[in-house]
Formats: sequence, C-alpha cells, structure tokens
Amino acid sequence: MVYIISFCVVVIGLAMFAAWYYKLFSKIQNTEQITAKLTIFQKSVEAHKDGIIILSDAGEIVFFNTAFQRLLKLKPVFNKDDLVHAKVFKLKSSEQINIETLVSKFLYRKNEESEFSISADLIIDNKETPVRIFLSSFPVNNKGKTVNYKIIDIGDLTHDIVASQRKQKDMVSNLPNQYKMIEDMSILITRMQDQNRTFALILLSLDNLSTIIAAFGHVKVETLLNRLSEGLKQSAKEMNCALYHVQSNDFVMIASDVHMADEIIKIVKAVEKNTNAILDFTNTHMRLTFSTGVSFFPKCGSSTEVLIDNTYKAIAEAKKKGDGLLVFARDVYSAKSTKHVLEILNEMHGAIANNEFVLFYQPIVDVQKDQITGAEALIRWRHPSRGLIPPIEFIPIAEKTGFIIELGNFIIEEAIRQQKRWETFRFNPIQVSINLSLREIETADIVFYIADMLKKYQINPSSIKFEITENLAMSNAEKAKSEFLSLKNLGVELSLDDFGTGYSSFAYLKDFSLDTLKIDRIFILDLVRNQDHQQIVKAMISLGHNLDLTVTAEGVEDKETYALLKEYGCDFVQGYLIAKPLPVFEFQELIRNEKSLVTGRL
Ligand code: C2E
Ligand code: CA
Ligand code: CA
Repeated sequence: MVYIISFCVVVIGLAMFAAWYYKLFSKIQNTEQITAKLTIFQKSVEAHKDGIIILSDAGEIVFFNTAFQRLLKLKPVFNKDDLVHAKVFKLKSSEQINIETLVSKFLYRKNEESEFSISADLIIDNKETPVRIFLSSFPVNNKGKTVNYKIIDIGDLTHDIVASQRKQKDMVSNLPNQYKMIEDMSILITRMQDQNRTFALILLSLDNLSTIIAAFGHVKVETLLNRLSEGLKQSAKEMNCALYHVQSNDFVMIASDVHMADEIIKIVKAVEKNTNAILDFTNTHMRLTFSTGVSFFPKCGSSTEVLIDNTYKAIAEAKKKGDGLLVFARDVYSAKSTKHVLEILNEMHGAIANNEFVLFYQPIVDVQKDQITGAEALIRWRHPSRGLIPPIEFIPIAEKTGFIIELGNFIIEEAIRQQKRWETFRFNPIQVSINLSLREIETADIVFYIADMLKKYQINPSSIKFEITENLAMSNAEKAKSEFLSLKNLGVELSLDDFGTGYSSFAYLKDFSLDTLKIDRIFILDLVRNQDHQQIVKAMISLGHNLDLTVTAEGVEDKETYALLKEYGCDFVQGYLIAKPLPVFEFQELIRNEKSLVTGRL
C-alpha cells in the first residue's frame, strides 16, 4: 500500500511536472524558471528511496535516480543505451522475464492500460532481491508530436519482508512467532474474560538442543525443527489449538476452554503420536523429547506477561527434573477449585506415605501344568474419598510428571517384599511380574535400586520378572538393550509387554536378553472370532519359541480362547477367566484352593 501510494505520488508528480514543464516550455519560455523547477523535480525524484528510471517510448533513458543505480549496483558512469539493452540485471519470475523483455513488452503496449505492477525476485550480483516494480506511462506533446514516457519504479522489499517476518512468522518453520502469539493472546484474554472462559498455554520445548546441534549440525537441526513443526501443526489441528514457534526449540500451543490436566495430557499424547517418527532422529536411536510447561488462564495469571512467565517457570522446573517431563505452573497446584485430575496430581505425592497405594495380583497360569505359577503386580490407589482408582487414571500423569520414579520404587519394593513373605510362608513358588515404565528405566540408578532391594529382602532374583512394553523398549532401543542386559545380570527375568502393538525388529528381539513375549490382549480378546488374530497369535508364539522365549497371552476371558491358546502351544495365560487382579489376601486364598478353582473353571 505504501508503495502504491508513494508510486502514485511520484507518477502524479512527474505527470504534473511534465505537463507543467511542457506548458512552461512552449508558452512561457521562461528558461530560468524552468531550470529551477527542473532542479526541484530532479532533487525530489533523486531523493526517493525507490529506484526510478524514465524512458522514452524508443527506449532511451531520460532520467534515473541514485537509488536505481544503487539497487542495481550499476557502475557510476555508463552508456545510457547499455543500461536499457544490455542485460545489466535479470528478472526471475514465473515467465523467466528479463528487464529487456519487460521493458520492450511495456514499451509496445501502447493501447493497453497505462499502469501495472509486478512482484519478482531480481537477480542482482547473483543474489535474489525481492522487489515490486511499478510501470506507468504518460504522454507529453512536444511540437505536435506525442511521446509516451515510461516510468519504471523499483521498490526493494528486502527490509519490509524481514521486518514483517520478524513480526509475524518464524523464519525456520514459517509458523506464527512469539510477536503474533502475544498479539493473539491479549485479544484472547479480553474475549475469555468477557465470556468467563478459560484457556491453556502449553509450552513444548525440545530438550537438549545444544547437544543435538553439536551432534548433527545446524542445517540438519533446522530440517528437524521444520519436520517437527509439521507434526505439531497436525496435532494442533487435531486438538483444535493455535500453534506458535516462539524460539528456536520452543513451540506454544494455546487451547481454548481447556482447564484440566487430563485434557493437556491428551494434547501432549497427540503431539507424541505425530512427532514420534521425527523424534527418532536420523535413525540413530537417539530419542528426542519435549519438556512441557503448562499454565491456565485465569488460574495461573490473567495477563499475557504473567502467563508466559509462569509457563517458562514450569518448563524450567520440568527441565531440571529430567527430559520429556510435563510440569504445570505453580499457581495450579495451590488453586482452590482444581478439578479432579489436578487434585490427583496434588494428592499423589502424599498418597505413598499414607499407604493409599496397594498392589493387586493377577494370577498367571502355566498352560501345560494347568497351575498358577506367577502373578502380575498391578497398582491400585485406594483413595480416601474417591475409592479405588485404576492405574490408567494416574500412571500417565505420574509418568509425565516424573512422580513415577517415586511410585515405581514403592511398587518394586512392595512386590519384592511380598515375594519374600510368600517364600517365608512357603506358598507354592510364584514368580511376580512388575511393570516398569520407560522413565524408570531411563533413570540411571534403577538397576542399583533393584539390586539393593533383592539384597535387602534376600530373595531369589529369578522369582521376579520385569515387564516393559514393546513400545517403550523400541522407542529407545539401544538404551533399552543395555538396560535390559544390566537387569538380566542381576538374575531377574524380563518380559516384553503388550507385544504386537509396537514395531519390534527381529534383530532387537534377539538382542534384548528377554525371557518372555507377552502378547497384547487386543489379539486375545476376540481370538475365537477373529481369524486374522488367530494367524497373528500363532505366528507370534512360533516367533517367541524360535527365539527361545516363553510366550504369555493376556486377556483370556473364556474357555474357548484358553483351549485355542493351548492348542497353539502358548506357555502361559492370564485373564479374567482365571481371575481379575486381586487384593493380596484374596490372591492367597485363590492359590491355596488353586486345584479346585482353576481346574473347576477351565
Ligand atoms: P498391563 O501391564 O497390560 O496390565 C494388564 C491389564 O489388563 C490390567 O489392567 C488388567 O486388569 C487387565 N486385564 C487382565 N486380564 C484381563 C482380561 O481378561 N480382560 C480384560 N479386558 N482386561 C484384563 P490394569 O490393572 O487396569 O492396568 C492397566 C495398565 O496400567 C497396565 O497394563 C500397566 O500398563 C499399567 N500399570 C498397572 N500397574 C502398574 C505398575 O505397577 N507400574 C506401572 N509402571 N504400570 C502399571
Ligand atoms: Ca503388564
Ligand atoms: Ca500388557
């Protein structure tokens, strides 16, 4: 717009001047006045920041200003004709047009519109320069002959583009940037305040950026950030959020009407889903993670500055605790009206000390022996007011907030202590399976902690089995491989949980020092009716056996499924057919009366 206006000013000025000049020249013939006016004209066009050149309709240069000379990097002294006809600069546009053709096209469009403008990249000194070119003509009568003068006005857009990008878009990802976020947030705050609504500010920060740059170089990391922004765009679309790229490795999502932690977890999960493949950077088994800081409007602040500050504080805390964690801004913790899940977050910390967490045990049957030989320890939270809370409601939050380490330690000690009790009271040998989450495996001292517990309770290590899901193991396969080996060296057994839901490579299955594949219940629940699942389960069992592993099927709910699995040679089964996860005393009752119960049901 500024260009159009300034261009018009120049054109009108020139036209007026020319008319006036002509009038003066032919009628008044006042040479002194003419010279004075000419000087004014020349100076004003000279001072214009656009490059301006005036040509006769024969293509002769009548005038050009210094900005034109500077923009095109022309030598101070040159032949006029050279300037028009020689290819001093080339125009690169969709038509591959150069200045010569441009000018000639313009020169011969006598009967067409007398003004037009184009945007193009001029190649000047081998460098692309974005410009906007205005062309116009004006007729001047001289002694009965009309000459159509052409004005070419070239505006350099480089600075404007950079300035506007700086204002609105990130240079790498082309996503709206922090300036745009601040602008949008202040509008949003006013609107949400008026309508009594909420929103969440979610800051996602790629961890260890400097290490990644050191390892892969800037160029690759820019490509990575670009690809990540694509994954984030997809997530923002799915979760109905606005997305901004606020700094090199920091992205922000704004989710309207979101005020609960579980809604945030859904968003974070969508991000994980859409960026998982990208985060497995360059197939180097280097697993990248996002730390997440969240604050809610208006709970954590009712101004842009306070909200942003609190979100950054939350992320600083997340990064301090480790990679890939989610932390909610402080104000949320202390807010009185926190919703269900936020209360869970608060209360989880005190729940271990209050003995609110308990382990339930679900029997695992040896198919050949028709006998309970194991149990999976499954955590439950006996909440004083909410009753029994299933793990699905708090394990994901515990994993995301890092609380899983504390909780995991409790679970490991509790299961090992229980195993010791069964040994002491001479129950039939029961191998206890304990679930481990990725975050637990990633902490350096988990192996030491387990070793300590085995020593403390003096139990046979092989009476403990650790279950790690296939997805978690494969998400950082190299790390998992070495951690599995360290665990195996303690003498405990290992099982790959939820097998079939991830993508294990055969090589890793061989290298993982596993004892058991545990087929995910998704394949088992409809086994009798689903022939595809029958083929898959058969293949998984033979794969396991070929690798010298035992195979467990979970989710066995009926006798027909049990019979099929027995026919396929499956080693162990677990499921509601035998029993649901039971409190320890009920589990003990079950194994005491096992013969009648199990055989009676099967
Ligand atoms: P999982 O490790 O796959 O655990 C098996 C889940 O399947 C249990 O759900 C169990 O109750 C359920 N299940 C067992 N048999 C049947 C059946 O015949 N039919 C059906 N429909 N379901 C059956 P639960 O106890 O709710 O645990 C859910 C998940 O929570 C577990 O999945 C595990 O990923 C996690 N979890 C549970 N306890 C712990 C724990 O102590 N530590 C960790 N890190 N995660 C745990
Ligand atoms: Ca499990
Ligand atoms: Ca499982």
